[in-house]
Formats: sequence, structure tokens, C-alpha cells
Amino acid sequence: MDEREFHKMTSLRPYVIGLGLREKTSVFGIVDALGNIICKDHVTTTDYPDPTSFMFDVCDRLQPMVKQVGGWDTIKAMGIGAASGNNITQRIENAANLSWKGNISLASMFQGRLGIAVSLANDCTVAAMGEMTYGAARGLKDFICVLVNGGMGAGIVLNGLIFMGNKGRVGEVGHVTLNPNGRPCTCGKVGCIESYVSRRGITQTARELLAFTSKPSALRSVAPADITVELIAKCADEGDAIALETMRKTGDILGHAMTAWASLVAPEAFILVGEVSSLCGRHMLEPILTGMNENMFDAMKWSTKVYLSTLHGDDASILYASALAWKTKEYELLL
Ligand SMILES: [Zn+2]
Repeated sequence: MDEREFHKMTSLRPYVIGLGLREKTSVFGIVDALGNIICKDHVTTTDYPDPTSFMFDVCDRLQPMVKQVGGWDTIKAMGIGAASGNNITQRIENAANLSWKGNISLASMFQGRLGIAVSLANDCTVAAMGEMTYGAARGLKDFICVLVNGGMGAGIVLNGLIFMGNKGRVGEVGHVTLNPNGRPCTCGKVGCIESYVSRRGITQTARELLAFTSKPSALRSVAPADITVELIAKCADEGDAIALETMRKTGDILGHAMTAWASLVAPEAFILVGEVSSLCGRHMLEPILTGMNENMFDAMKWSTKVYLSTLHGDDASILYASALAWKTKEYELLL
């Protein structure tokens, strides 16, 4: 008897589905209990004018994948991680980064179509669950995942449980004002941390350093509009002075913000997750630690660790969402 037949006979459901709904490309896959991604696929989110057409297409693409692992009887649940996902209402609410407007009950739409339990939470929360299940937070009970990519936010775990916050809105640390006379933010305010610590924030910092200093830099040979975080990270790897200064400034801002978060909940660690963290984290780690600790209350100085996630790219998005799927029952009982 092979493993699939065994699970069929014992009615165990050895797999879950993880779906990372992202601004440009959404990724989904079937994951086993050890965190192996058995199969995966992706779609271009912006190709779908509405969430219904997105849901139908993803379901169609899941059918052969599920057949490959032995049919729907082997699937325990599906988890969806999405920016602007509300952990309690299970909806995507007024997402700034999607063209679909209003409140979207994506979990119940998938549940109705697939006939399995489907949970949805915001991308920072599922990142915290994923890091706890498969990543750098294994064994930690109190930690904060800081997700940096197009935007930034936090997923918070206290005493081993995801902290949900009032009405499910938790971890919106990106839109705390850092500088009331600072950069305009996409949220409509001015000087939010996210307008410095994010893809657009980092590229703008590099452009400002190029404009207002005379340091030599490989970035000077690139049109300002073509400067990307990928390029800045590559230049930083090669020792470029402007790229490294961009990393130092960004890390310093994030570190200073973390002083307040660490003082409030005394986490064992922060874990940096998301694509920008993957690209830039190694250059930002030292300024983050310095920025966080130089203003910290003496008794708490150097007591909070900062880790870089070891999960990257599409696989991280799938694994994070799958961690929510594994926890679906416990997660629902928490509400
Ligand atoms: Zn903002």
C-alpha cells in the first residue's frame, strides 16, 4: 500500500492548499505536513477584472493538481494570505493594492466552489504563522514578523497565539507617521514609515542620495526611474557607497520604529520577511540593530533578536498560506 492509499483508507487528510494573493502574481500550491510543496502554479492577478473570475480560474487550475495527490479527500483545508485581508471577517477589505474594490468574501467564495474549509488572513499574519510552522520562529512564543515589500506591516504572535486585534485590524505599523513634513504616502497621509521602508521608499532614498550627494555610484549610469530595489541590492553586494548608504538609512528608520514595538510587547525576536527583506536584509541588519538599541530603555537593550527569514519568493507565499490552512480549526476556535 502506498502513502496515498494509506491516507485514503484511514481518512487522514495529509495535504493542504496555500494561496498567496499578491498584487501582480498570485501563487498557489499543495503542501504536505513536512512543508514540502508537492505542486504549484501561478496566475497574473491583474488579468482578472473581478475576484469571481480569479476564483473560478484558480479552482480550475487546482483540479489536476489535487488529482495528482489523490483527490479532494486528501485535502484538509485551504489557506489564503492577502494584503488587506481581515483575520476576523475573513474578507479582503478595501485593498489599496488590488483593482478589486470594496469588501471581498474570497474565503467563502472558494469554500462554496471547492467544498473544503477555507480560511483567509492578512499577509503579515500568515507570514507569522508560516515562520512559526516552517521557518525562523519555530520554538518562539513571542515574536513579531515585519513584512517589507510594496508596503510594510507586522504579524504578531504573543504567548504562541496569533494576536488578532480589535476587529481583525492588527499590525498596520507601516502607516504610523515618522515625519509630519516627510514624503507623501499612498494612504493619503504624509511621512509614514512605509514611505521610507518599502520598495518605493528605498528607491526614493537612493534617488535622493544620488541627487544630493556627489559620491560615486554605479546607480548614476541608470535613469532614476529605472532604479529598482533589486538593482540597489546588487550594487550594495558589490560595495557601492550610495547603495550601502540607502540600506543604512532604511535600516536605521526601521530600527528606530522597532524600539517602540519591542518596548511595548518585549518579543523574543523580530523576523524580517518579504521580498525586500530577502534582497536587502543582510545589509540592513546591522543598522536595524543599532537603530533599535541606541534609543532603547537600558534594561531592555540588546535583549530582542532580529532574524532574517530563510523562506523566500513564491514558495514562502505558498508555505505561509498553507500554515493558515493547517491551523484552520484552531484558528476558528480562537475567534
Ligand atoms: Zn501611509
